[in-house]
Amino acid sequence: MKVPNIIIAVDGYSSTGKSSFAKLIAKDFGFLYLDSGAMYRAVTLYAMENGLIDPDGKVDAAGLSAALDALDVHFEATPEGSRTFIGGRDVENEIRTLEVSSHVSPVSAVPQVRDYVDTRLRLFGKSGRIVMDGRDIGTTVFPDAQLKIFMTADVDVRARRRYDEMRAKGQDPDFESVKKNLLERDYIDSHRETSPLKMSPDAIVLDNSEMTFDDQMKWIRKVVQERFGC
Ligand code: C5P
Repeated sequence: MKVPNIIIAVDGYSSTGKSSFAKLIAKDFGFLYLDSGAMYRAVTLYAMENGLIDPDGKVDAAGLSAALDALDVHFEATPEGSRTFIGGRDVENEIRTLEVSSHVSPVSAVPQVRDYVDTRLRLFGKSGRIVMDGRDIGTTVFPDAQLKIFMTADVDVRARRRYDEMRAKGQDPDFESVKKNLLERDYIDSHRETSPLKMSPDAIVLDNSEMTFDDQMKWIRKVVQERFGC
C-alpha cells in the first residue's frame, strides 16, 4: 500500500495502546513515530529532580516556566527507535515510572510547558509522513492532520495493559494504584484549561477493548485505503 505524505494524529485516554498502535502504523507505512507524552514526561522528571514539585504534588509553575528556556528535551533516533533525552542524558526508561506518571498531568497543565512541547513537536510536521500520539495532537498540535484517530478502551483493560507493560520492564506496581493513576490522569487531562483532551470533531473513534494488534492494523489499512484511495 502506497500511503501519501500525511500526518496521522492518534489521541485518546491514558493506556489505550496509542503508542503501540502508532509504532505499528509507522513500521507498516514507513512513517516516523513520535511520542508526545514522552516530552511531557521528560519535563516532569526535570521538575521532580529540581525541586519544582512540592511534597504534596503542587507544581511550581513560575519556577518551571522560568527554567524552560535553558531546558533541552529532545528525541534522538537509535536503531531501536526514537529515545527521549534531557541534554546528553537518555531518560527513556526513567520517564516511564509510576512516580513520573503521578506528576505528569499537573505539569502538562502548565500553559508554558504546553507551548514548549508544541514548538518542538511542530518541527517534525514539515515533511509529513509522521504518526504522533498524545492528547491534543489532532486538536492543537496538528489541527490540519489529514487523519485523526481517537482511541478509547474499557478502563480495566487499560489498567491491565499498563500493569503488564510495567512488569515487563522489571517494575513491581500495584494494580489498583495503576488504575487509579489512569483515572486521575484522564480527569486532569480532560479538564485542564489549555488544550484539554477532547475528541476533534473530524476524528474517527477506535475502541480497541476487544481488538488485537492485527485487528487494529486491518482497521487502519481499510480507513487509509478508503480515504486516500491507495
Ligand atoms: O501518553 P502518555 O501516557 O505517556 O502521556 C503522559 C501524560 O502527558 C498524559 O497523561 C498527559 O498529562 C500528558 N500529555 C499531554 N498532551 C499530549 C501528550 C501527553 O498533556 N499531547
